[in-house]
Amino acid sequence: MFPPFGRCAVEGRTSNLARSLAANIWLLICAAAAASGIIVVVRVMRGATPVVSDLVSPRIGVSAAPLFGALAGLYGIVATVLLTVRTARLKSARSAVRRLQRRTDDMESQRSNQQTRVEELSTLREVATVVNQESDFSIIAGKALELIHGLFEPLDATLFLHDDESGKLGPFAQYVDGSVLTDRKVLTRSIPNFDLSEFESHSVVCRIHGQELHAIVPLKVEEKTLGILLLVFLTDGRPAEVQTAEFNKAHRRALVEIVHHLSLAVKTKHLHTKAVVDGLTRLYSRSHFNAQFAAAVDFAKRNQEPFSLVMIDIDHFKRINDRHGHATGDAVLSRLAKRIKGALRKYDTAYRYGGEELGVLLPRTRMRQAIRIAERIRTLVERQKFRGAHGKLVKVTVSMGVAQFESRDNTATLFERADQRLYRAKDEGRNRVVPAAA
Ligand code: GH3
Ligand code: MG
Ligand code: MG
Repeated sequence: MFPPFGRCAVEGRTSNLARSLAANIWLLICAAAAASGIIVVVRVMRGATPVVSDLVSPRIGVSAAPLFGALAGLYGIVATVLLTVRTARLKSARSAVRRLQRRTDDMESQRSNQQTRVEELSTLREVATVVNQESDFSIIAGKALELIHGLFEPLDATLFLHDDESGKLGPFAQYVDGSVLTDRKVLTRSIPNFDLSEFESHSVVCRIHGQELHAIVPLKVEEKTLGILLLVFLTDGRPAEVQTAEFNKAHRRALVEIVHHLSLAVKTKHLHTKAVVDGLTRLYSRSHFNAQFAAAVDFAKRNQEPFSLVMIDIDHFKRINDRHGHATGDAVLSRLAKRIKGALRKYDTAYRYGGEELGVLLPRTRMRQAIRIAERIRTLVERQKFRGAHGKLVKVTVSMGVAQFESRDNTATLFERADQRLYRAKDEGRNRVVPAAA
């Protein structure tokens, strides 16, 4: 007459609570029915174990059934309510713990991001300081590469700069194995393959090359690309787009900021070069000669160091212009300057004094050595013809006057001695070196 109870969820789970409640209410109804004389069979279960066995038992008798039924029903209802409350509390405590865990994770990742940002800003500040304090771009580039290496930890970092002479990018400096290399011959990286137009839409171009990830950042000033920075990392085997996206997310902003400062230093270098370098010959200009000559005389005087000056003039240059044209004259002048630069030692400097007259400063050099250098230049010019504008080969010679600094000299007296000897070299038949007597 009555359906079975199933489980009376005394220790019911949340999902069983409604059923448990219904069952216990049902129990109460049964108890009431029993009290009114109807015989009921009640079984309260805890899992598979009966908590209250059949209320209708020979020992208890039918008369006890209403009381037991009522008690069991009440117990079930109270237990169910208590459990409902406890389960709800447990649930909210668990979700509070989860929220707390999430917040802790967020804070941890925020802390780590802030730490990275602090390191990036500190590197940025150091690069900016170097750029502001140093005037020698080689030193700036070396220090900046070292700092960049310290922050991003690539395999190596190489700076390529635009060369005005060739009109192309060329390697300038590299940081690898804990040191800065500036000698082009020992740099391990060649110019990476890329198209300048890629930088129109990307501030950093990232790509995988075999086992390496290459990140290329342009050094731009007023939309002109003056160079590029190449950072090389080892790949980790994941798909290229995943690695490049991850690299961009982690490093792009800091890289672009640091390279911006480096670009300003390159711009300053360009402006300085423009101011002190002659456009045709790529030798230092007359104004730079005046400043450097005065400084060299001053240094030699204070330190009692030897110092020599060589003045060079191209022989019959007017004839070259007249015979082969002005363009050939220009080409000869430019190639001759290059040949002279190639004949000098690292610390010697050549200048275009004016027209086809050049000056060479030889620090820490006595007359004998100065004459040897001048002779080397003379034979280098004489030995091989110069290619003119239309491929024509032109024979060129030069005359030179050499003077060594004496303690009583100033710039005017030293210059005059060298210049006088240059005139004497012309008078004596050209294509020769004439040293000034002490
Ligand atoms: P000398 O052996 O006595 O020095 O004879 P020279 O013809 O070289 O000397 P001169 O002073 O008579 O002429 C110098 C010439 O050099 C005249 C000038 O047009 C030429 N010259 C000077 N600067 C340039 C230049 O930048 N390009 C070209 N093509 N010619 C130049
Ligand atoms: Mg001349
Ligand atoms: Mg001249």
